[in-house]
Amino acid sequence: MSLADWYTADLSPRPETYRPFLPFANAVRAANASVKLSSGGTLATFFSQKHDIALITPMTKLVILEYPDPRLRKKAAAVTAVDDAVRQLADNMLETMYAAKGVGLAATQVDVHKRLIVLDVSDSRDQPLVLINPELLMREGSGPGEEGCLSLPGIYDKLSRATHIRVRALGRNAEPIEMDAEGLLAVCIQHEMDHLEGKLFVDYLSELKRQLIRRRLEKERRQRSTGSGLRATAPSASAPAL
Ligand code: ZN
Repeated sequence: MSLADWYTADLSPRPETYRPFLPFANAVRAANASVKLSSGGTLATFFSQKHDIALITPMTKLVILEYPDPRLRKKAAAVTAVDDAVRQLADNMLETMYAAKGVGLAATQVDVHKRLIVLDVSDSRDQPLVLINPELLMREGSGPGEEGCLSLPGIYDKLSRATHIRVRALGRNAEPIEMDAEGLLAVCIQHEMDHLEGKLFVDYLSELKRQLIRRRLEKERRQRSTGSGLRATAPSASAPAL
């Protein structure tokens, strides 16, 4: 066949030619339909439901600031109105926290200086908690625990926090929340509330320790940026990154 013939020839295959490919196409469609959505459910169930277009704004992962970034030292201002922008921020922060395998994240850590924190201390990672303008009403007891922080990747240390707290805040939909917390949740809330004040868990450690941590993080950042080698130490399996 000449080139001219090739161009002019009717090369469209007869319909039955496609048939062997149909099972393959169906398999692809089925695989896509079982894709899990971060908003819950699968693509198949998503498409079978009716949606308000405003509800399907995709969530966005945000950049987490790392120590010693000076923006981590800013004091956050109160949220004056819980509007769509605040709800979107809370959702994006949750998405970012889950992606980073953290149990808590403060708005300060994503360079938004508003009093908003998100948490999920459940093992199943399906109990998100949004606290807007959180206030501590009570703190009791004192106990040591190991802490990490998404702004200090790979760094864990022991420090003492109140073991029981009572917190008041607004939820994602501006509903008033007053709750008692203990254990990991109490630690996590105190840690995130410190972020809103521009405070980091390493501030509780000695100056010498802080300098060592700073040098280690800077070295690891250099290695990451030049692509030479992996992080020197694996994250601790027991301590939460907050
Ligand atoms: Zn933190």
